This record gives sequence, structure tokens and C-alpha cells, in this order.
Amino acid sequence: MTWQPTDCHAHSRHSDGALTVADVIARAASLGVRPSISDHVSGDAPTTVDSLPAIDEYLTDLEHFDVLRGGEFCWHDPLWRQLPDATTRRFTHRLGSLHAIRLADGSWFRAFNPVLPRGLTAAEYMEAHVSSLETLAAEMPVDILAHPTLVPPPLREMDPETLWTEALEERAVTALRTAGTAFEISSRYVPHERLVRRMIDAGVRIALGSDGHSREQVANIVTPLATARRLGVADADLYDPAAHGSRTGFYRQKD
Ligand SMILES: [Zn+2]
Ligand SMILES: [Zn+2]
Repeated sequence: MTWQPTDCHAHSRHSDGALTVADVIARAASLGVRPSISDHVSGDAPTTVDSLPAIDEYLTDLEHFDVLRGGEFCWHDPLWRQLPDATTRRFTHRLGSLHAIRLADGSWFRAFNPVLPRGLTAAEYMEAHVSSLETLAAEMPVDILAHPTLVPPPLREMDPETLWTEALEERAVTALRTAGTAFEISSRYVPHERLVRRMIDAGVRIALGSDGHSREQVANIVTPLATARRLGVADADLYDPAAHGSRTGFYRQKD
């Protein structure tokens, strides 16, 4: 069989996606992409998968389809800490997200907030972002860090190589490499190339994710795949739960 890229991150109507599970699978097939469903699994996200019984229902539904069974867990929400191992193992792979970060004063701040906290500089925000990333990597047994460069809208206007200092990038690399968590190249929140290259050079595994919610977005991983190839990642090294296993999941971790 010829190799096909895997979209490790796509949403269905189980959370805030527009398509049914069957439609996500059909769309991916039409694009030559192996599909996954990776809906929000969180008590603090737009999703039906917001409790332990709801997670069992979600997984039971996905088990009716030939599709990878993912889940996107909010680091800031406690639901992921409550999963029994037997439930965790039903996921083929799991993603962790910094939809909110912890600021230096201990408060939580949502990454979708249109304005930064009063008086907080971009540098202070990024210090909190990377320190949250380090804690996520150390304590959250997920396979992929979803959209690692998600920041509030005002910071998206800035040059990412200024926003992310090389020292911050090194800290993120060390955190993911130590944990064995993959770095997602997101179609939606596109990481800057210097950071992706640094991850690859350090041996951090790369995952592709459309983070698709609509028919146009789901399984559209053309740009992330092109980036990975341009930076020298072999197709077979791109994260595939069936080939590389999962830290906690259905497929046993290899090597
Ligand atoms: Zn997300
Ligand atoms: Zn997502």
C-alpha cells in the first residue's frame, strides 16, 4: 500500500466540527489522507465529550468506523486527569492543548482572548506560555502537543522570531523531547519555520494536523506536509499512531 499522510487532528460534530464522523472520513479519503477524529474532550470547550460517560459514548461511536480515535484535551481542564486507564487505552492517540495558560501570578488566561491582560508584555506572556508548555509536557501523557504556537490575537501580529526568542524555543524543544511528545505542524496555527527546524534537529517527532472544523479544512494537511518534507522529515517518520504507537493508547509504543 502506498504511504498516506495522517491527519492526527480533526473535529466532528461530537465537538465543534461541522461534519459527521462519516463525512470527515469521506473527505479525507477524497484527499488521499488517513483520517482521525480528535474532538475536544474537556469540561471547558465547545463539545459534547465533557464527562467520563460522554467519553465512553464518543469512543463507542468511533469504534463503528475505520478511523483513528483521537481526542484533544485541554491542559487547563481537569477531565484528562480523571480518565481510567481502560478508557485511555481506547484512544489511538491523544493531543494536549494550551487553550489556556497559567500566568506568573497563578491565574489562568485563555489563548483566544482578544486582549492581553492589563500591563502584561509580550515577553511576559511568552514566558508564561513556555512555562505552561513545560508543565504540560512533564505531567500530561499525550502523544502530540496541538498547535504549540497558539497565542492570543494581538501576539499573532508580531514577528514570531522576535516573539519566540531562541532561548524559549530551546526550552520548548527540551520539554517535548524529554517527554516523548510530538510537535504538531498545524494547518490552522502555522508554526514558524525556525521552531519546526529546531524540533526536527533535536529529534522531536513531527505530527500533521489540519485542526479542521469544516469540509474545506478537514484533512487539508498539504502545507504542513510540504513543510515537513522541505525540512527533511521522511514521510515514514511523521507521527502515525499505528506505526509508532501511543504513550498510553490502543497501539503499543514501539522502540
Ligand atoms: Zn485546539
Ligand atoms: Zn482542535
